[in-house]
Amino acid sequence: MKIRMAHGGGGKETMALVNDLIRGHLGNDILDRMEDGAVFHHNCKTVFTTDSFVVKPLFFPGGDIGKLSVCGTINDISVMGAIPEYLSLSLIIEEGFPLTDLKRIIESIAAECGKEDVKVACGDTKVVEKGSGDGLFINTSGIGRLRDGVSLSISNVEPGDVILINGFVGEHGAAILGARKELNFVSDIESDCAPLTSLVSKILTNNHDVHAMRDPTRGGLAAVVNEMGLASGVTICVDEEKVPVSQKVASVCDLLGISPLELANEGKVVVALRAGYAKEALGIMRSHPLGKNAQIIGFAEERGPFPSVLKNGLGARTILEMPRGEHLPRIC
Ligand code: MG
Repeated sequence: MKIRMAHGGGGKETMALVNDLIRGHLGNDILDRMEDGAVFHHNCKTVFTTDSFVVKPLFFPGGDIGKLSVCGTINDISVMGAIPEYLSLSLIIEEGFPLTDLKRIIESIAAECGKEDVKVACGDTKVVEKGSGDGLFINTSGIGRLRDGVSLSISNVEPGDVILINGFVGEHGAAILGARKELNFVSDIESDCAPLTSLVSKILTNNHDVHAMRDPTRGGLAAVVNEMGLASGVTICVDEEKVPVSQKVASVCDLLGISPLELANEGKVVVALRAGYAKEALGIMRSHPLGKNAQIIGFAEERGPFPSVLKNGLGARTILEMPRGEHLPRIC
């Protein structure tokens, strides 16, 4: 069975799709009221974020657009130091999209939400004519409860801070590249797509020592260290030899002439924290399933001519530039 225009018409077919498929997998006490908006109490500092997902292909090694749309929004909330609680879910479906594929994607959304104890509180379904979309686009917004006493900001990085990452860079970008049949190379690299909430929660045990966190998605590690350097008025010095890159990702990057530091991640966090907490934080990361390959990759210093520099094995420094252009569209 395929999605028809009537599934977006707001009548019987829409109701059937929402009731059987969406509420069947994602139903909860708030969504099931089927009101025009979700109603809930939220008496705390709140983090609110949104993201749209247009990844191509919809299914890729290590995930699919459903898992990505939950993890992407959860991670933006998590790296702000908050606990994700509610999501909105908007589906823009192209006429003719296979219902079995939509079911797989909804199941995948349900699985991630279930594991993370996050509720889909509201949503929307639209159908566009064949040729006006590319299968499926998803938008998720999310809100989370900010932990007491936590105030993270990319403008809080101080000279002397140590920079950590929880594992291999570039896996999501390389997985999508491999899954794009037009690029004509085969790889078995899996996306690192994963929710970071529990890892972040452990790092924030000493929350007064943590200054900034950001998930290096589009633009990769290179973009994040530049953003931190610019916002904080410091220079982030990245030690090239310390950045964890898997052999497989390194080979793909060599083949295509791209830098693994510019490739997207969907389960990584870059953390800037006080030097005195760095060793302990590294230990905490490495004891978590999502941080086994964590590394200290650099430090912040007084602002020099550039927001970020790369130091090679001989100690020579080059500019670590903000990635330019778009060598890989529709990665997330
Ligand atoms: Mg982000």
